[in-house]
Amino acid sequence: MIISGMVKSSLVDYPGLAACVLFVPGCNYNCFYCHNRSLLDGTHEVLFPGYVEKFIEKRTGLLDGVVISGGEPTLQKDLIPFMKMIKKLGYKLKLDTNGSSPAVIEKILEYELCDYFAVDYKAPAGRYEEICQGNSSAEAVLNTIHLLLKSNSGFEVRTTVIPQLGRSDLFTMAQELPVVPKYVLNRYRAPDSYNKCDSIRIMQKPYTQQEISTLVQAIREHQPNTIS
Ligand code: SF4
Repeated sequence: MIISGMVKSSLVDYPGLAACVLFVPGCNYNCFYCHNRSLLDGTHEVLFPGYVEKFIEKRTGLLDGVVISGGEPTLQKDLIPFMKMIKKLGYKLKLDTNGSSPAVIEKILEYELCDYFAVDYKAPAGRYEEICQGNSSAEAVLNTIHLLLKSNSGFEVRTTVIPQLGRSDLFTMAQELPVVPKYVLNRYRAPDSYNKCDSIRIMQKPYTQQEISTLVQAIREHQPNTIS
């Protein structure tokens, strides 16, 4: 398992738990507003093999959970054995994913390796490729979300409300999704590093928190469990 970064203790990344957060490199998307661009362009560091495993082992009983984030963790070949190792130590596990690999999620569910999933739904189906690039498709993400719903596992769906998504896009997305246990609208912040060709999109004025709160109320008509 290649790990490029670690936050040793966080109270905000795993709902209700103290957890360490691991960042894996590489992603099959290329969202122009990605906040982890170094994980996409290969300029990231790589932690010494075994360092993270030792750290996690030592923190047993001091931390409640481990969050695997990225990049896109489901692209890592040895994700499943790595998750098995963490579960054996008694941790709660959360996986952050762009939802593009339903087959990997199905395996994780089959082995009961993950306690909580956060899945991004980034754009209405018709605009997925424009916003996420790579070989992105809403269909795969929706398949992942349906698998999670069927499995009864804990999960949330998240959308970063980038300025390029209009009100009608957000309503369309809320209707494309099945009703999910928690739908989180996150406010957009411009990333520190981005591709020069995207500077106009990056600098577009974001929604205010007040505007997002108003959207949350309206979207609850289709997604009753929407929060921001
Ligand atoms: S899916 Fe996430 S990690 Fe991948 S490019 Fe988009 S924002 Fe970045």
